[in-house]
Formats: sequence, structure tokens, C-alpha cells
Amino acid sequence: KAKSNTLGEINLKAHLKGSNIDVVETDLGDRILQLKKTDNKPVHPTGPASHLNISKIADIVNDSLDVNVDPEAREIMEIVRHDVLKRLENANVGISGANAIAAEEGSLVMVHNEGNISIVSLKDLHIIVAGIDKIVPCLEDAISIVKLETIFATGNFVTSYMNVISGPSKTADIEKKLLKNMYGAEKVVVILLDNGRSEATDECLYCIGCGNCVVHCPVYNAVGNEFGFNNYLGGRGVAMSKFIEDEETCYDSGLYMCTLCGLCTLNCPVAIPTNEIIENMRKLSAEVGFYPKAHGKIKENISNNDSPY
Ligand code: SF4
Repeated sequence: KAKSNTLGEINLKAHLKGSNIDVVETDLGDRILQLKKTDNKPVHPTGPASHLNISKIADIVNDSLDVNVDPEAREIMEIVRHDVLKRLENANVGISGANAIAAEEGSLVMVHNEGNISIVSLKDLHIIVAGIDKIVPCLEDAISIVKLETIFATGNFVTSYMNVISGPSKTADIEKKLLKNMYGAEKVVVILLDNGRSEATDECLYCIGCGNCVVHCPVYNAVGNEFGFNNYLGGRGVAMSKFIEDEETCYDSGLYMCTLCGLCTLNCPVAIPTNEIIENMRKLSAEVGFYPKAHGKIKENISNNDSPY
């Protein structure tokens, strides 16, 4: 499996584990969290394990892989890479998300630095799960979006890899006879996920997932991944949780933790007014009985006329 917030959203790993299917994370940060076993929610969309220091990471790797690695970055990386590649030898399904989907060409664009999506896409079957919000008119738009995402997520103009997948691996090099399954996947299955998106406001769906808003968010910087929903951190994650789950999840994700400072909006490359969205959601939420903690999360308050507004 490659890194994907969408796969986190549908709890795919837990579901597959319940069916006795072994899932191996190929992204180094995600793999470290997977080896950690407990309390392993990612803390940032592109730096999932950035809250762990190197000694802690070495301990996690030593405990779970039964090795004796020093707290040294290259040594840790090589041990994890070796272990992941060994496990992938027996895997026949690769699964990933997509950063953008070009409607006109039917192509999927994925960006990564580690080369792991290329490996995942070489399995017999490559399953790609992506939200409908990732669909853009054409390939040029898809490339523009992933470039923007890269700049705001990492500060670099391009990632080491940009994969464009438009179908299964094939060749016609022998007498023009079309043969599938040369090196890449024999089958590519694309699953488009709605999961509440068609109910969401357009502004929520413009998000390109760069994570720049949370880097600037004072609440996220104080409480980390407590502020947000699942893999969707910060105010934007809170807003999306209402559509992906419900009003109560939105409340529990931190609807009233937001300071409404607007730094997220100021630092968003696509100018999503997250603070305004949150403010509106609070009004709507209060109407159905979800007030700030001081007032209690209580529908009964409505009948007591105890509105904070
Ligand atoms: S809301 Fe804006 S800054 Fe935050 S992840 Fe989405 S695009 Fe990036």
C-alpha cells in the first residue's frame, strides 16, 4: 500500500486485517507508524511520523522487526526498506490513492519521492481509490494541481517521481500483437469514492491536500492530530468530517477548538476560507444542539432554551 488519505478515510487497513489480509505500508513514515502498532495516527498529511524522534523510531523498528539498529537515519531507512521489499515479494495486489484524475484522458497522476508507488503499480493488480474531488478536466490541469500541491507541501517544485497511469501495462512489439502484463500491472482498477463529498460545499472540495494550512494553524501546533478527522487534519478535516460522517463527528473532531484566526485561509494555495466554513458550521451545529463544551454536547439544551448564541 502506498500513502493515501482516502484509504485512511475508509479505514481500509483495519477492514483488510479483519479479513486476514496482510497490508504492508511502503511509505517510510507510514511504515514506522504501522510498526508502532498503538497510538499510530499520522500527524501530518505528508510527514506522518514527524512527531517521533530518531531514538523513538529506532526503538520501534528494533522491537517490531527484532533487529538492533542504531538511532541513525540511513541505517533505519535501509532496515525498513529491506524488510518491506522482502514482504512485497509475495504480494500480488498494490493499492494506492491518486493526487489528481484527468477526466478527458482517463489518466491518474500520482506524486511521490520514495519510488514506492512505482513498486506498488508493478503488482498483478493495482487498485487505485480516489475521491471524486480529485477529478479535473484534463491532464494539464492534473499536472498543475500536483505541482501546486508539491510546492506547498514540500517547498520543492517537483517530487522525485510523477507517475501518470492510463491503463494496464502492455506491449505490441511482436508483430503488432497487443499483449498485456509486460512489467506493470495486468489490471488497473479505479474506484471513485463519494463518501459524502457530493453533499459537501464546493469550497471544501477544492482542497489539494498540501497540508500547508495545518503547518500555520495555532491549534494544530498546540494539540496535533487531536484537531481534525482521521487523516484529514486541522479545520478542513473538521469541516469534511461533517459530510464524510455526521454532525457529531464534526463536533468531536474539534468544531469548537478552532480560534477562527484565519491563518489557514491566508496560507491556502487555493484560498479555501476554512475559518468561515467552520464559523458557519458552528451556527448550523448549534441549531441542532451541539454547543461548545462549556455548554455540554446536549440536545436537551435546546429544550431548556440554553443556546450560547
Ligand atoms: S485547505 Fe488549502 S492549505 Fe489546507 S490542505 Fe487543503 S489546499 Fe492545502
